[in-house]
Amino acid sequence: MGRRWWMKWYSWVILVAHVFAILIFTRGFLLTRTELPYYSHGSDISQSPCFSSTSTNHSWNKPVVDRLVIIVLDAIRFDFVAPSVFFQEKKAWMDKLPVLQKMAFAEGSSAKIFKAIADPPTTSLQRLKGLTTGGLPTFIDVGNSFGAPAIVEDNFIHQLVENGKRVVMMGDDTWIQLFPHHFNNSHPYPSFNVKDLHTVDNGCIEHLFPALYQDDWDVLIAHFLGVDHAGHIFGVDSMPMIEKLEQYNLMLEKVIKVLGSQSEPGGLHENTFLLVMGDHGQTLNGDHGGGSAEEVETSIFAMSFKKPPTSIPSELDTSSCKLDLDGKKKCTSSIQQLDFAVTVSALLGIPFPFGSIGRVNPELYALGAGTWNLDGINARDSSNLSELEEWLLNYVNVLCINSWQVKRYIDVYSASSVIGFSSEDLLHISNAYVQAEQNWANSTKNLLLHRNERSHTLLPALTRQIDFYFSFLSNVSELARSKWTEFNLKLMGIGLGTMLISLFIIFLAIQRVNNLYTTSLLSPGGSGISFELIFAFFVVAIRACSFLSNSFILEEGKVASFLLATTSIVRLRSSIMKKKMLFEAVSFLLLISILRFTIEVGLSKQAATSLFLSASPSWVLGVAPGHPLWTYMAEIGPILAVILLACLLCRTIASSIFGGLWKYITMATILSYVLIAVYWGAESSIPTLALLLQGMAKGHIPRMIYAIGLGQLLLFAVAHLFDKDRELDYKRSLVVKTVSILSAWSPTIIILSGKQGSLVALALIIGGYCIVKLESMEDSDSDAIFTFNPLAISQWNLLAVCLFFATGHWCAFDGLRYGAAFIGFDEFVLVRQAILLTIDTFGFSHILPVLALPFLAGCNFLFGQNDHGKDFRFTQLSQMYMMYGLITATTVTVTIICVTIQRRHLMVWGLFAPKFVFDVVGLVLTDVLICLASLLYSGRLEDDDTQAVQKTEQ
Ligand SMILES: [Zn+2]
Ligand SMILES: [Zn+2]
Repeated sequence: MGRRWWMKWYSWVILVAHVFAILIFTRGFLLTRTELPYYSHGSDISQSPCFSSTSTNHSWNKPVVDRLVIIVLDAIRFDFVAPSVFFQEKKAWMDKLPVLQKMAFAEGSSAKIFKAIADPPTTSLQRLKGLTTGGLPTFIDVGNSFGAPAIVEDNFIHQLVENGKRVVMMGDDTWIQLFPHHFNNSHPYPSFNVKDLHTVDNGCIEHLFPALYQDDWDVLIAHFLGVDHAGHIFGVDSMPMIEKLEQYNLMLEKVIKVLGSQSEPGGLHENTFLLVMGDHGQTLNGDHGGGSAEEVETSIFAMSFKKPPTSIPSELDTSSCKLDLDGKKKCTSSIQQLDFAVTVSALLGIPFPFGSIGRVNPELYALGAGTWNLDGINARDSSNLSELEEWLLNYVNVLCINSWQVKRYIDVYSASSVIGFSSEDLLHISNAYVQAEQNWANSTKNLLLHRNERSHTLLPALTRQIDFYFSFLSNVSELARSKWTEFNLKLMGIGLGTMLISLFIIFLAIQRVNNLYTTSLLSPGGSGISFELIFAFFVVAIRACSFLSNSFILEEGKVASFLLATTSIVRLRSSIMKKKMLFEAVSFLLLISILRFTIEVGLSKQAATSLFLSASPSWVLGVAPGHPLWTYMAEIGPILAVILLACLLCRTIASSIFGGLWKYITMATILSYVLIAVYWGAESSIPTLALLLQGMAKGHIPRMIYAIGLGQLLLFAVAHLFDKDRELDYKRSLVVKTVSILSAWSPTIIILSGKQGSLVALALIIGGYCIVKLESMEDSDSDAIFTFNPLAISQWNLLAVCLFFATGHWCAFDGLRYGAAFIGFDEFVLVRQAILLTIDTFGFSHILPVLALPFLAGCNFLFGQNDHGKDFRFTQLSQMYMMYGLITATTVTVTIICVTIQRRHLMVWGLFAPKFVFDVVGLVLTDVLICLASLLYSGRLEDDDTQAVQKTEQ
């Protein structure tokens, strides 16, 4: 007893250690902002301290522009727009948008070029979210996980619609995904075909110019994708890129001409504001997603068709200037993309998005000519004020509202979010806000009331007030950035360290079991390092190292199947040499080839939805013809397979070892299999079969199968608790329990996987059988360090990995089969659908293989060798589970090391982070299953053990 108690509890310790490590690491690694479903309303402004008089018109601030044209040029680098004098060397792609420079640097122009800094991840979807919400990115958001990634947070598009503005959209269909019901009129074009440089752009141009003559919109958004796609395919330094930029230059020239021609008083575009902007930059290879300067630096060109009277005070001016070759001064300013949403909202006079933490950018705001005429708030005696004072007063008012809105968000956020800010940080922010408020109430407000007497002190007072607001707002955005978007290396280190320690603990545990039992049961001595051990170690190590490269992560399924094939060839060699089990060895290889094929099919499916893979051609797609025989096969094959499964199970039950409750538990599975066959038959496109089965309530079948599965598991627990059947010896009880639990799980997993399910289940059975048989062929080396063959365990693990990819999954959130969550249910309930989705995702790759591991342990006695007694078998089984856990934990630890190393990699959010999430979920699930297995498969052993102890005592 004493020497075994720890073997029962050690798996729980490992589970706790892993959960702790993962939680700590995740806190340091993933972006952990919570999205709040709150919206700003026009009437909220009455709660703000910003208006002395009661404002009844429910508008936050006076609109200063009437119409807004936003032209988004996807992946525009700053050096595409800014003059080449700003850069060390003039490159081929610079100065290709001369119309923007001409407008920005013309005498007395009201246009400006900004360097816009994006917050990574610099993918279009995340950037559009950031631009419209004014918030920082979140990595995992609940809204994104199921189906459409529509924005759940407040954003300026929502505010536009709420405030009666009409919005039209053309171009990239990402906008439609984000804002499915917001546009009055939209012309979306698919964005995922990166090889197509022109469809989206031509479609945009086709609808843009007619729309510029219409008055049925207030805000127009045109999103061009050509430069992004040209970058992805050809890179920045390429002819297609330059051609694209030249095309855009012509287009922009025309847009400015059309707008300008109608900008006279009373014209359609009298007070229209033009924004030409990128959502993010790109590297010279055309990649984006990460946080390098090339990727985060993009540009905003802003232009008003009315001339502002003077320029803003130099304290608010961020422009940096260079002299060009003719000695002319050229200046560009800079802006954070974070500030975009609130500045645009201020220009249009709509409430600021609830979760925006940006500040109204003074230079962009000043371009709106309307900001210079103060006729809304204090119109009575404004004649005494200079134009600049008027503007500053206006701007102070906007900043007051801005600060109040940001403070409100921070308060609500820290009250409702699980991971909020520390109280120290909150106090710091509050102090900055209170200071600004007090200054407003004590000095600035008084000055404004008595400004006629003291007008010379007004200007410095206003700038001081602006400084206070700036200090508060920059405090907030700095804090938010450091808490929400920066990696916390300390936490990541602690998490990683805990993972490494857990690996060491598992290793020690395996060693200790050896020391306890190898000496007593097997002949001692020998070096203990066998060929199999070294080989297994290398297989695991090679697979682990492959995660360092993003392309190997993409092809992880192929890597796993290649390694599995390699191990099976080693087995084939020894089977040829021993002239034993040639059939099993060959069929195992054949099975791996079939799996390899299905992994290829899965990858081609991924290619259709993922930008990363779309360049790699796949021959598989060409093989699936519309031939009727093929359809027939595809319909009938799975049904035949499920019937075959039922027959196999029948035969197993019929054998003498099954008795009592176990028999009934397992028999229910046959019923489930029949139901699955009926369900698929009714769904099939073969008319006679479908008609025949239509009468049966097929909507209820999946639910019945889930219910049966649940009932079986409950019965199993009961049977396990009260199983005092002494006639069953350990090996029989092990087989019976394993078969029962597998059969209880399998129907649910099969029906969730769709029609491939039964075939995959067959593949798993065949694969498992081959591994077990081939394993039993090996002589048990007397000097082996382990009581089993480590190579077999790594084969088992690789087979599980292959099945994950062969069932059409991959490590990305678009790799989840959302449809599976709705089999048997139409309405969405988060917990229920999440459980179904988890079972579908990890069923064949984690649940079944881990629970089936006792077959591998039992192989020796199943095939009549090496019967060392139950004590030995339990040892062997626990050691196998330790080994399986060690392999899984090792690969996950290496994944964690890789994401830590690659945290600044441009694909960290697109590839490494999803891989990390899938891996850690899989690891925790494996640990939980191992704990369950240690309960299930060792329960009676304690009794045997006590018996044995009693015997020795006697
Ligand atoms: Zn983009
Ligand atoms: Zn792109």
